[in-house]
Amino acid sequence: MQFIGALKLRSKLFFLFLLITIGLIFFGIIGTSYVNAMKKNMDSLYFGSLIPITELNEIVQTYNNGLANTIYKASRNEISPSETASNIETSLRYINKKWKSYLSHFKTEDELEYLEYANLEITHTNAYFYKVLDAAKASRDFSKISINTLEKKVASIHDVMQKLINYEGNMANYERKKFLYAYESILIKIGTSLGIIIIAILIMLYYVFASIQKDQTKLEIAAKKLKIANKKLENASYTDSLTNLHNRRYFNFIYDREIKRAKRNRAYVTFMMLDIDYFKQYNDTYGHVEGDRALKSVAKVLKETLKRPGDYVFRLGGEEFGIFLSDTDETNSANLAREICEAVKKREIKHEQSKVHEFLTLSIGVVCCIADDALEEEVLISRADEMLYEAKESGRNRYIITSNASKAKIA
Ligand code: GH3
Ligand code: MG
Ligand code: MG
Repeated sequence: MQFIGALKLRSKLFFLFLLITIGLIFFGIIGTSYVNAMKKNMDSLYFGSLIPITELNEIVQTYNNGLANTIYKASRNEISPSETASNIETSLRYINKKWKSYLSHFKTEDELEYLEYANLEITHTNAYFYKVLDAAKASRDFSKISINTLEKKVASIHDVMQKLINYEGNMANYERKKFLYAYESILIKIGTSLGIIIIAILIMLYYVFASIQKDQTKLEIAAKKLKIANKKLENASYTDSLTNLHNRRYFNFIYDREIKRAKRNRAYVTFMMLDIDYFKQYNDTYGHVEGDRALKSVAKVLKETLKRPGDYVFRLGGEEFGIFLSDTDETNSANLAREICEAVKKREIKHEQSKVHEFLTLSIGVVCCIADDALEEEVLISRADEMLYEAKESGRNRYIITSNASKAKIA
């Protein structure tokens, strides 16, 4: 059954369909042959025994009613000679016809021997009645006819016929038993074949479905892996490889979404723009690798300081960072900005060339306001940028916060 496993899903279903079709065709062929056999049995029972018995009975009855009765009546002058002749003629024709028909049916060897004798008896008896017919036609007197002879003839033919009837009856019984036996064995054969076909189909179905199930599970596992890989890819595409912070791409995605959410709730939004002071000098003094390390340290500080789920930290490019906060008022935003400045300083990253401090510092431009319909998305960024510029201009190593477009506070 391994080959089923190797098939593709479409082929498996096709295979299943093929299997059921073959099963049905096979069953149809077997069923038809069994039904044909049954029909043969019925034929031999019906045409081999039942019809002959009927014909023989009709012959006996015609001898009794058509011939003997007519002659009795004629002997008592109850019917005219012409009627007598007509009745006898009709009866003899009928008997001949029935006898011929009876002989035409299939006969066994045993039967054939007896039939020769019976045929002779019929011919003799009929010869007698033909003579009577001639007498009737010649309008002879029937009162003197020997009823004794007539009765003997009829009794003798009756005997012969009875033997044949008995024989046919026995045959009918035998055929019936044979038929019933064949009928039962055919039923058993049909039942068995059907059972075997059903079991075979069920076994194949089991394998096909087990294989489909296996494919399905494989597919599900592959889909899960793909989902995880996609998620990783998505995360990677939203992550800055140096600092592991969200990158500018993610910032663009989050920024619009969060502003809209804040607008819906009329909540506080805070955006901070951060830039390391004299970082060019830092690189020049300590080299690019140390510069990268310093960037990582600052990123770590930012991550450690901002832990709430609604806080986002981004590396916007070079030594510039962005922070997005929701539901944080001006005082808390200012506190956080101060905390960040202090925490970076506390890392004590030596910066000999800095004109503002012995350690690495940064400047922050902060804008914090309640988001309403009038708030334009870009204003937050440009205002934060302006505040950063002001922080740089006014001496660096500080933050400047504003809650609207016109006013700014120096920390
Ligand atoms: P200011 O106080 O006015 O901000 O002075 P600055 O020297 O920081 O000014 P500027 O923004 O011109 O310099 C940024 C420097 O940051 C330039 C570049 O050498 C450095 N830089 C940018 N990206 C990276 C980076 O990925 N790694 C390292 N090591 N340095 C970077
Ligand atoms: Mg810069
Ligand atoms: Mg700088």
